[in-house]
Amino acid sequence: MSQIYNCVHCDAAFDSKKEFEAHVIFSHKTDAISKKKILILGGGFGGMYVLKDLQKKLDVKNISITIVSENNYFLFTPMLPEVASGMLNPRDITIPIRHFCTRAKFYQATVFSVDLAQKLVTITRKFDGKDHALEYDYLILAVGSINNFFGNKKLEENSFTIKTIEDAIELRNQVLLMMEIAAQTGSMGLQQKFLTFTVVGAGFAGVEIIGELNHFVRKSVKQAYPTIDETNINMILISSRNEILPELNKKLGESARSYLKKVGVRIITNVKAVDAGESHVELSDGEIIPCTTLIWTGGVTTNSMIESLICEHGEGGKILVDKYLRLNEHPEVFALGDCAAIPDADTGKFYPPTAQHALRESKIVAHNIKKILVGKTNLREFSYHSKGMMATIGNRAGVASLMGYSVTGVLAWLIWRSYYIMHLPTFEKKIRIGSSWAINLFFGTDLTLIGETKTKNLCEITIEDTPSLKEQLFTDL
Ligand SMILES: Cc1cc2nc3c(=O)[nH]c(=O)nc-3n(C[C@H](O)[C@H](O)[C@H](O)COP(=O)(O)OP(=O)(O)OC[C@H]3O[C@@H](n4cnc5c(N)ncnc54)[C@H](O)[C@@H]3O)c2cc1C
Repeated sequence: MSQIYNCVHCDAAFDSKKEFEAHVIFSHKTDAISKKKILILGGGFGGMYVLKDLQKKLDVKNISITIVSENNYFLFTPMLPEVASGMLNPRDITIPIRHFCTRAKFYQATVFSVDLAQKLVTITRKFDGKDHALEYDYLILAVGSINNFFGNKKLEENSFTIKTIEDAIELRNQVLLMMEIAAQTGSMGLQQKFLTFTVVGAGFAGVEIIGELNHFVRKSVKQAYPTIDETNINMILISSRNEILPELNKKLGESARSYLKKVGVRIITNVKAVDAGESHVELSDGEIIPCTTLIWTGGVTTNSMIESLICEHGEGGKILVDKYLRLNEHPEVFALGDCAAIPDADTGKFYPPTAQHALRESKIVAHNIKKILVGKTNLREFSYHSKGMMATIGNRAGVASLMGYSVTGVLAWLIWRSYYIMHLPTFEKKIRIGSSWAINLFFGTDLTLIGETKTKNLCEITIEDTPSLKEQLFTDL
């Protein structure tokens, strides 16, 4: 017996499903009404891994999955410091999001706002600045975090950061440029200023970046800058606490500290950076450090889109979620990763913002969405306690805490490399990174300084929407 398809938006009836779906899409500018729409915001550790799991778990014939992210690639952040030091190439640690979209749509755009009441998300396309609205049945918020300068504009204007691939490229260029300038000045005072690199923040990112840069600069100067006096190189790490690497145990923090000291890094504890200019940074104890390179890893916070969401917020403005990673007021909305405040029932605190956690959270989100879609109520709770933490601290040196054991030196560094190469998505990138590491064992550092590149502004051209964007409900705003 043939089936009749009636349109819920008008009186039209169809005896073919294909005609009916085409009618819904083109006459009412919406997706096939039977399809549930899952919208993922953010293509980092949280978003990307939810996408991968959902595509695996769900029958996507009845579901439409869309992912929106500012960049068209997933960034493997643990290896960013190695890009900043030139050990790895930027493309080694970036993987196109489309590579993962086996059954999902991808929009490279910035999420501008989320209307939780209307279930509408407004995105601004990168290439022409046009706004569009996407509707959803289930929403996943995974937009990560941004650098926090605690309102200090001077520090913000004068700092380099290490959060994006552009940051790593800029930092590497800055370090190379400073070495080129220092090599061409006869003044020892100026040479010292150009060769002083100050890192603010002694957590994982800060310690890893000072370790990498220290090795990179000292090795490069020996290799190729005969006019530079090595005693003019100053590597400084600033910690607002009494310790470094507070994420690890005291013993490992101390071990990292004594290693860094041995290889020429000055560590200043119990102070904060309070002011900065083009060629200096001022500390809370009054010390003024003459330096042309200040790197900020002093803290992160949520972006303005997350701040503006009308829902409960937790520490640092993050979105407060329940143990199933859903918003209390909107059970169809999930949040994970650095933008979510996830209470840890065992400690009474919140789970830390790490890639390791975001990965585990993504599994719970994908599982729970699947359960809801098949009408089940037995959702899974998020509970995870890290079995290990590790950091690299320079040339073939690391510190690691694994299942209660402390490991240091070359062994910790080898474990770090093996663990992260294993977790790097795609075989191709594993090969690329393996080759970059191998090349670096046998050859000197690459000192090529590639200048700024130019991109064309396409604002004057009207870009027709692709059919897939038409399938979504969208409105020109
Ligand atoms: C230098 C460095 C080293 C690190 N090392 C480690 C480590 O060794 N181990 C570890 O566990 N963790 C590490 N981390 C932390 C880890 O990177 C984060 O905890 C993790 O990336 C969080 O995942 P996420 O999905 O929440 O955010 P992210 O991975 O940052 O992804 C957020 C995504 O959202 C996109 N986005 C943001 N805003 C918008 C918007 N408005 N519109 C559209 N898209 C948007 C971004 O482009 C990005 O793709 C490191 C971080 C840094 C910076």
